[in-house]
Amino acid sequence: MTQFIDMHCDTLTQANLHFRHDLYTLPMEQLDVKRLLEGGALAQFFAVCLPKITTVQRLGRLYEGDWKHIKRLAGILYHTCVLHGDSVSMCRSRKELDDNMSAGRISAVLTIEDGRDIGGSMERLGLYHRLGVRLITLTWNFANCFGYPNLPGGAAPSSSDMERGLTDFGKEAVGEMNRLGILIDVSHLSDGGFRDVAELSKKPFVASHSNCRQLCDHPRNLTDEMIRAVGMSGGVVGLNQNPPFLRRGSKISGLEDCVRHLRHLCDVGGVGCAALGSDFDGCGRSVRMGVREPKGYQELEGLMLRSGFMPEEIDKIFYKNAERVLRETLS
Ligand SMILES: [Zn+2]
Repeated sequence: MTQFIDMHCDTLTQANLHFRHDLYTLPMEQLDVKRLLEGGALAQFFAVCLPKITTVQRLGRLYEGDWKHIKRLAGILYHTCVLHGDSVSMCRSRKELDDNMSAGRISAVLTIEDGRDIGGSMERLGLYHRLGVRLITLTWNFANCFGYPNLPGGAAPSSSDMERGLTDFGKEAVGEMNRLGILIDVSHLSDGGFRDVAELSKKPFVASHSNCRQLCDHPRNLTDEMIRAVGMSGGVVGLNQNPPFLRRGSKISGLEDCVRHLRHLCDVGGVGCAALGSDFDGCGRSVRMGVREPKGYQELEGLMLRSGFMPEEIDKIFYKNAERVLRETLS
């Protein structure tokens, strides 16, 4: 069984919605610690996603605010690591990564999807680092202090929207994130913002959960030029399992689609730039994904072998590339 590192899931958000405070077994979600162990996970990135602005407005004073929300969801992950320390442990430094790997524990990487709560403050970026955050997806589907999204309000962008670059703060924050050791994630960022990150980042950056626009023309996916830029930075693109990002307009995706996108990533950006970023628990219950839960990666591996991928290439795509990026990011 090949081990894997998965760079994006929304399990924390779903667990919180279902009042679960321990991620070990989550019958209603697509992954939990138990299934990650069975599937051979080396590391799982856990995103704290912020509620939509419209949801925040609707909830009014019932919403606790972004910072409390972030701490609540981060707390679920920390709590799980306390309860199940033999199985899963936080990964905030190279040493923690090494310790977890030698002890056979899953490394839990805390990430934020939408940096709006940082509110344009460099000091707050430091606060996020102290909380244990090691990747920030700069935007979600709304403009924020960093930049502009590639799916504004969840809809296709106009070409002028897509060309908007990072804000002044966003540009400065790239350097500060490089310095602090917080991985920059461009998965929801406008093409203009992507180009700014590619130009300014001195460290590898990632698209944690995006696919190839050449194969599936969706604003959330990366053009060949963008794939090459991620590869050139030493970063990776994590294969997203959400059907509309694998096959245009689709609600069903198969493993064949996953293999096609992985092959394209390798052909265009080199085998060093392909990785996994499932989006488990972030795609809705009604869609049928190629890989439906962690152990499905084994089926994907089988099909990749039959499709001509070499075992060494699969090792890179499944974990070695993402591990390399983590090591280059963490101190
Ligand atoms: Zn996302």
